[in-house]
Amino acid sequence: MILTTKLTYCCLVSIVLHPINNLNPKFYISLLNLQGILLHTQFSHSLTSLDSFAPRLLAWFAENGRHDLPWQQHQTDTPNPYIVWLSEVMLQQTQVTTVLPYFARFMDSFPTVQDLAAAEWDTIAEHWAGLGYYARARNLHKGAKQLVAVIDESGDFPQTLAGWEAISGVGPSTAGAIMSMGLHRYGVICDGNVKRVLTRWAAIDGDITKSATTKELWALAERLTPREQSGLFAQAMMDMGATLCTRSKPACLLCPLQDDCLAHAQGRETDYPVKAKKQPKPSKFSNALLIENENGEILWLQRPDNGIWGGLWSLPLAFIEKISGKAAVKDADKNKNKKPIAANDNQLLEIASNEKIYESEFTTAEQIINEWLDKNQLSAKSVSNTLLDDAPIKHSLTHFHWYLTPQSVILNDKQATEITKALQAAEININWLNADDAQATLGLPRAMVKILE
Ligand code: SF4
Repeated sequence: MILTTKLTYCCLVSIVLHPINNLNPKFYISLLNLQGILLHTQFSHSLTSLDSFAPRLLAWFAENGRHDLPWQQHQTDTPNPYIVWLSEVMLQQTQVTTVLPYFARFMDSFPTVQDLAAAEWDTIAEHWAGLGYYARARNLHKGAKQLVAVIDESGDFPQTLAGWEAISGVGPSTAGAIMSMGLHRYGVICDGNVKRVLTRWAAIDGDITKSATTKELWALAERLTPREQSGLFAQAMMDMGATLCTRSKPACLLCPLQDDCLAHAQGRETDYPVKAKKQPKPSKFSNALLIENENGEILWLQRPDNGIWGGLWSLPLAFIEKISGKAAVKDADKNKNKKPIAANDNQLLEIASNEKIYESEFTTAEQIINEWLDKNQLSAKSVSNTLLDDAPIKHSLTHFHWYLTPQSVILNDKQATEITKALQAAEININWLNADDAQATLGLPRAMVKILE
């Protein structure tokens, strides 16, 4: 960059001085050409390759792409940014086939951003339940309210990249997708699929979790995205990453980029994208308390807004411990079907005797419940183990594996009333519902559904 800036300066000074120094103008033009070449060399491909990327991709997409996804707005006359925003948030970290039924239900219940903004959180949570990464649902609700405020003030959705990036949960790639597909303006995307295609096509060796590599990838994505039809290009890139240039089995022989794909030329397709080796995920072990009243109804707690499963409904949990390292997880998996694990069982301590960190991550509600159970001598010793045949249930979250052991506690009427009062006095949202009703009416995280099943 410094070199090219110096060259520009040199050329301009020389052109100004030209009448004085009387040098051939062709000399300056060749200097400018050299600058163009230097600017270009930040990319590993020739100008022809770079310029033909979009036409090749679009021709492939026209023939082979998916054109029937319900959120595709790139070719409609009146694109709806709400649809693109909603689908883009749902598609983060989640596959198209998983998203389809959720998207349909959302559009059915909340056809406009105003409907979504006006909905109760519980209704949204119930619609989102099972899709995972629940912070997205929270952001969606918050974002809908922000969008309605913008529309009320300006009469329309945000019309700029910065305007969209100001909406909760919208990053640069989502904003680029909305600009290009939802508003038919210029927009660039560089999500996980695009990064995979580009690191392979250009054999980019940098770790994609590092900001220098991110910058390099964005620069390349911007260079390749055509000014016209950037929405169509974005759609095609997504399809390419999802259907051809897949994580483990790229279909290079069908790929429109195979002639100049550097990873393919080296037979190293799956070496890209380069990512620093992850540490094995730590594991946490918890008891999930199925506290039942005499009517067979189970106690459900709404989790605090912040943290895991924020705002969703869960059984009261009792964290036992957190351990890290493959060996511990392997041992836990091995023990999975052997014997139920109770809170006071030394088995867990043996599993992780080398690496264990005790946890005290109770929510307020769980603290109240655990203290109340202790006080009434209804600790783990007195619970029935009949539900423990398949325990523990393994549930993987972004940062750790969670082994959940369901435990049943049966309460009489007096006890159920007492614990209800204790929780209500602390302003905890609770519900007593049997398993079917809970699944039908509450927003339950997937792990809870696994326990009920
Ligand atoms: S040739 Fe293979 S690795 Fe390269 S972009 Fe195409 S599908 Fe991906």
